[in-house]
Amino acid sequence: MDFSDAPAVADFRAGLRAWLRDHLDEHRDASGYESAESVERTLRWHRALAGAGYVGVSLPAAYGGRGLPDIYEAVVNEELAAAAAPPPPPIGHIAHAIADFADEDLKARVLPGLVGCEEVWCQGFSEPGAGSDLAGISTTATPDGDRFVVNGQKIWTSGAMWSRRCLLLARTETDLPRHRGLSMLVVDMETPGVDRREIVLASGSREFAEVFFDDVAVPAADLIGERGQGWRIAMHMLAYERGPADMGWVGRLGRVLAGARDDVRSGRVTADAPLRHRLAAAAVDVQVMQWHVTRSLANRAADSTGSGGSVDKLLATRVEQNLYRVTADLAGPSFTVGPSGPFADYLWSRAQSIYGGTQQIQRQIVAQRVLGLPRG
Ligand SMILES: Cc1cc2nc3c(=O)[nH]c(=O)nc-3n(C[C@H](O)[C@H](O)[C@H](O)COP(=O)(O)OP(=O)(O)OC[C@H]3O[C@@H](n4cnc5c(N)ncnc54)[C@H](O)[C@@H]3O)c2cc1C
Repeated sequence: MDFSDAPAVADFRAGLRAWLRDHLDEHRDASGYESAESVERTLRWHRALAGAGYVGVSLPAAYGGRGLPDIYEAVVNEELAAAAAPPPPPIGHIAHAIADFADEDLKARVLPGLVGCEEVWCQGFSEPGAGSDLAGISTTATPDGDRFVVNGQKIWTSGAMWSRRCLLLARTETDLPRHRGLSMLVVDMETPGVDRREIVLASGSREFAEVFFDDVAVPAADLIGERGQGWRIAMHMLAYERGPADMGWVGRLGRVLAGARDDVRSGRVTADAPLRHRLAAAAVDVQVMQWHVTRSLANRAADSTGSGGSVDKLLATRVEQNLYRVTADLAGPSFTVGPSGPFADYLWSRAQSIYGGTQQIQRQIVAQRVLGLPRG
């Protein structure tokens, strides 16, 4: 097999590398959505990337993208990881849902701001009573003339404290079977009746919130696709979220692994034989993951919304959690000192088996839709 880049991909990669050489240093402190200052730094970084044409590269050019195949998204992720750059904006799944389902008017109104990183967006799916069982959500969007009136609560909404808009899954039809009564809306988070309350995670991360909706008016023009199409759009989004193009962490895991290997080889960290074997196994895992992602990207070119993303996510979760477990054991008790760094990374890796659908749910999808096993 030939894993080398096609000439056009190689040119794109070289251009991005050159851009990073010139621009990355001024953005190294972009650290995510943790405080007003960190959001500002992160948005500056994302806007710089977008301005240079490296955000949403697989989206149609008419909506701020470059109309390139998914492999180019992977190149962006790989190169940012290789340069130890802050992550790109996590918007691919949201942008593709809008580009693939919304009408032209809505696309024209919201995609440039999303792809240009003018504003932060969040994804309002999970509720206190409906996470894995997403079709059981009870937030309602009641049709009322030329608007919907939204009532209910979302939880675990990443970035909600800082978001200007939310892609909201809500129930518009209460008399239809569960999956068929759902719709997807774009909600302006500054509308009266939206109340966000911060959730602080065990890692210290402050980017989560629960969001309450109390008679929130949403223009009917901000419905994505048709009424009742929400489930289909949500599954389309999750296929992207679970799949490889948004998985910039594959390259990041390679860096973590290389750091651990160098520490052991140089004697900075002492490791007995069993621990060295586990590190070697983690190295094999990361390599397998990289090749698997390459294969998934090729498959995705043929079918962008298949269930293969669940296989990718299961594998990525195992690889990441094993690796951080090994780095924790290499570091010993000092690992847990300090609010950030490796310990926070380790804690974050635990969340991998929950967000975007838990391990158990991914296994059910693989069993039923990939392997065709009977239900029950
Ligand atoms: C870091 C992080 C970021 C997140 N970001 C967002 C976000 O931006 N937007 C958003 O909407 N949500 C977000 N979530 C929420 C996430 O999607 C849910 O936590 C997840 O879907 C699980 O739902 P739950 O927490 O309600 O757990 P539950 O559904 O209550 O599940 C609890 C346990 O029961 C198991 N279980 C449930 N049903 C079954 C079944 N049928 N068969 C076998 N086992 C089952 C689950 O696997 C799990 O182990 C995020 C979560 C995390 C951790």
